[in-house]
Amino acid sequence: MNIGIIGAGVTGLTAAYDLTRQGHQVTLYEARPYIGGLAAGFKDEGWDWALERFYHHIFASDRDIITLVEEMGISDTLFFPSPVTSILKNGKFYPINKPLIGPWLERLPLGKRLSNMADLLATGLRVLAFRPIPFLSRLRVGLVTAYLRYNPHWQHLEQVTADEWLSRAAGRRAYEAFWQPLLEGKFGPHYREVNMAWFWARVVARTPKLGYFQGGFQAFLDTLAERVRTQGGKILLEHHVRGIHPTSEGRIRLELRDHEAIHDRVLATFSPHMLKERTPALPASYTAGLEQLLSMGAVVLVLAVKKPVSAGHYWINIPKREGFPFLAFVEHTNYIDRQHYGGDTLVYCGDYLEPGHAYFEMEPEALLERFIPGIQRINPTFDRGWIRKVWKFSEAYAQPVPKLNHSQNIPPLETPITNLFMANMSQVYPWDRGTNYAVEIGRRAARLIAGER
Ligand SMILES: Cc1cc2nc3c(=O)[nH]c(=O)nc-3n(C[C@H](O)[C@H](O)[C@H](O)COP(=O)(O)OP(=O)(O)OC[C@H]3O[C@@H](n4cnc5c(N)ncnc54)[C@H](O)[C@@H]3O)c2cc1C
Repeated sequence: MNIGIIGAGVTGLTAAYDLTRQGHQVTLYEARPYIGGLAAGFKDEGWDWALERFYHHIFASDRDIITLVEEMGISDTLFFPSPVTSILKNGKFYPINKPLIGPWLERLPLGKRLSNMADLLATGLRVLAFRPIPFLSRLRVGLVTAYLRYNPHWQHLEQVTADEWLSRAAGRRAYEAFWQPLLEGKFGPHYREVNMAWFWARVVARTPKLGYFQGGFQAFLDTLAERVRTQGGKILLEHHVRGIHPTSEGRIRLELRDHEAIHDRVLATFSPHMLKERTPALPASYTAGLEQLLSMGAVVLVLAVKKPVSAGHYWINIPKREGFPFLAFVEHTNYIDRQHYGGDTLVYCGDYLEPGHAYFEMEPEALLERFIPGIQRINPTFDRGWIRKVWKFSEAYAQPVPKLNHSQNIPPLETPITNLFMANMSQVYPWDRGTNYAVEIGRRAARLIAGER
């Protein structure tokens, strides 16, 4: 079959990998001058490893991406440190995930399993030691987390919001200290609409060990793209697909800037809204459903700094009520050694925002001006002169918002147009979107396109 794939992010590349392996003729159309989509990295002078435009790691439980990496024979490039993730409360930082035992444990027989258990135990103890809320509230956080982690039934949880369920189950004070900041940080004004099944999946899937690739995610993506090419696939960069049209023979015609291409089957991996805009033949009853799918955008400022900024924290979730100009502070080099980046300390200050927010249009320097007081609250000695370079990245389609009963609103991978398929982050559920689920949905789409159900 002659197959066209729109988008060379993880979903598109994975689908292309599987389809070319089966001998199909695949062409990937990527609008940007680089592959990788949201997971793509960039390199500055003097860096050996690429850095993701948006902070990235995987979890030890991310089976689909780990399986793909194993199949590709590159497992030795994936490693799992246990960095410190923290909560900010009343101006103070409290590490919540911070290992009690060093990485030496992993070298013992059954060491990986023991080390995972030790990390979970350490998190439990740190929750119990979290002084800003009463002991009973801390206990409730532990019990609620354990209940969610070991309860396999999530379906009924999508009928209630996470805000309502968590504040009822754990109490207002525990909820406001631990989970509200997280929901607000991800979903902004929509955080009260997110359903509890999404939150359940987060608790079930997350591990204190966070996986990263030698050379960055870009190194993994480059290897995947290389395999697609050696298996006969074509990856066309700076090929923006402007229109998708069914032909009278049941094939799909893609409209590009200066030419057209006809394929037997097409997979679109961009946002549902983009699919609607680019495909005039889709029926109105179907596009109305696509329009209902809500999502947030993301804006991050990446700073290359001459010395460490925070006291060893990799990730700090910042509650909105603390009044910071950003809601996530991620010091990448407290996770991955800065020797890979020419000795730079690398920091992300980020936020999920509604498309149209002023941050999307601001110049990096203006945004930095806005962010510096926030960084100085993390380290009062932080000075502008420490900054070597600044980059700003933004994306309008970055985080779908799973509202009540979301399972009933997810469109299938087949569209109403014969031979046109779609696979994107809005169809990942109840799990939080991520590269693991991009691999899963890319493979599922490839099976469907190839005719294997
Ligand atoms: C701030 C942030 C942090 C994240 N952190 C993590 C993390 O820690 N771990 C994790 O696993 N995941 C993380 N993710 C999510 C992860 O990046 C995504 O789930 C995954 O990369 C989605 O891949 P995709 O291929 O489905 O979509 P995308 O990566 O969006 O790929 C779609 C591709 O389509 C292309 N395209 C768009 N329009 C056109 C067009 N008209 N013609 C041709 N091409 C087009 C785009 O340029 C893009 O390359 C994060 C995302 C964000 C935004």
